[in-house]
Amino acid sequence: MSTDPLISRRTALRGGLLLGAGIAVGGFEVTLASDAAAAAVPNPGIASCTTWGARAVGGLNEIATRPNKILVHHTDTPNQTDVSKDAAYRLARSIQNYHMDHNGWSDTGQHFTNSRGGYVMEGRHTSLAHLTSGSGMVVGAHCPGQNNQAIGIENEGTYMTAEPPAAQWNRLIDLCAYICQQYAIAPTQIFGHRDYLATDCPGDVLYAKLPALRQAVADRLNGTPPSFQVVLDAPTAGANWGSSSYSAQRYGADYRYASPQAVSDGAYYRATLPAAGNYKVETWYPADPGYNPSTPFVVFASGGNSTVTVDQRANGGKWTNLGTFAFGGGERDILAVSRWSSGAGYVIADAVRVTAV
Ligand SMILES: [Zn+2]
Repeated sequence: MSTDPLISRRTALRGGLLLGAGIAVGGFEVTLASDAAAAAVPNPGIASCTTWGARAVGGLNEIATRPNKILVHHTDTPNQTDVSKDAAYRLARSIQNYHMDHNGWSDTGQHFTNSRGGYVMEGRHTSLAHLTSGSGMVVGAHCPGQNNQAIGIENEGTYMTAEPPAAQWNRLIDLCAYICQQYAIAPTQIFGHRDYLATDCPGDVLYAKLPALRQAVADRLNGTPPSFQVVLDAPTAGANWGSSSYSAQRYGADYRYASPQAVSDGAYYRATLPAAGNYKVETWYPADPGYNPSTPFVVFASGGNSTVTVDQRANGGKWTNLGTFAFGGGERDILAVSRWSSGAGYVIADAVRVTAV
């Protein structure tokens, strides 16, 4: 079980906790009930499409890759005072009708809907099954460029000047924590729609609450949120580096690859660090038996370069720790994936995560 990348990632996220069996059926919180500190985040009672009376649909695009972030939206509908379950289910049906009949989409655009009364509902069909299993996702229609990597949550209402009701806010925390747990998404990877598109969504007030949301989700997951974390998914690399979306284990839309050769032709990852200090450096790569068994990662630490070699034939699709290094503050190169490997097979440069420790 520890070889399952999802479980390994989730274990890492939860601070080394070993989770019991039953993840696929969502019953593991029962397994762990005797250990209060280890209690998993339960499904927050998400009503399925069948429960709220969705129309049947077809032609959905389900993919094997897991999402890497959450995007928070507001529906831009009136802040109605009917906070009943019936009102929530009516809302879900009206959104589906609008998205199918007016927008011409195959189904509801977002993955989940959170009503003003705090009723959480499945949006696009199969979103709930994927979330429960922690495996793959259905491509949504809530933010261009992010639909195959971000879970979209629509919060009923308009939050430009008004606060979301407490029930809705608390349920948003519950839902995000459950999503982060099931997909091993770091709480730092919760964003607003406007972070990826020129839009008011999710409203000035709700957007300003996103730092608090990330903190609350981190607390729910029993983790101490890092003071700084950044994911770098677009290295600078020369023309001999190709781009591929071949492997479902990739982070984000694609990754870079190159043939091993004794040349200085790295794929460089650059970040702006808030201050001089120690940072944990991790990499995410898709593994393949044909990839390189000893890919050099050259870390540009303040005390000098350190090279960490990674076997990219195995253990892909998760964060792999390269170590903790001292860096100066400000904008700087963090590391380069080098082609200078004695091993055969492509060297892979996908994503790098830098976390203050
Ligand atoms: Zn939006």
